[in-house]
Amino acid sequence: MMDRHPEPDRAGGVPGATSPETPPLSSLFQQLVLEHYKKPRNRGELPGADVDVRMNNPSCGDTVRLQLRFDGDRIAQARFLGDGCSISQASVSMMTQVLEGKTVAEARALIERMKAMMHGDPAAARDKALGDLRALAGVHRFPVRVRCALLGWNALEEALRQAFG
Ligand code: ZN
Repeated sequence: MMDRHPEPDRAGGVPGATSPETPPLSSLFQQLVLEHYKKPRNRGELPGADVDVRMNNPSCGDTVRLQLRFDGDRIAQARFLGDGCSISQASVSMMTQVLEGKTVAEARALIERMKAMMHGDPAAARDKALGDLRALAGVHRFPVRVRCALLGWNALEEALRQAFG
């Protein structure tokens, strides 16, 4: 798949943000998503990153670049850059928040938990380990948007594969 290397400030672009397919999340959760979208956590370049993965979601036009720095088998730092709809960017922002300090095994367990939630598993949707990400639980009813929510997680899975096999 082609890597499109998008410009950081593509003109006016919030693709998908006003899409009719945007899930009707409860207002509290909607607020959390918008909060992360407007004030992303850990957004920026990570100097000295051990892995650097770019992924895109052609169905929506979302892009994510994820950089990680490891300390042994722990994730010392996670930063991202990206462009796209509120769900894709909020999800990766929330993801970097829960990742720091996690071991690789813990991070892989979180990936499985997030995927389970995106497949409608109610136990996963209640798991405190997912932190703010639980705000995205309702997205599972919208398969097209599930790809948005999982974009950063697919990048994480690939980054761990590159670093640890
Ligand atoms: Zn999207």
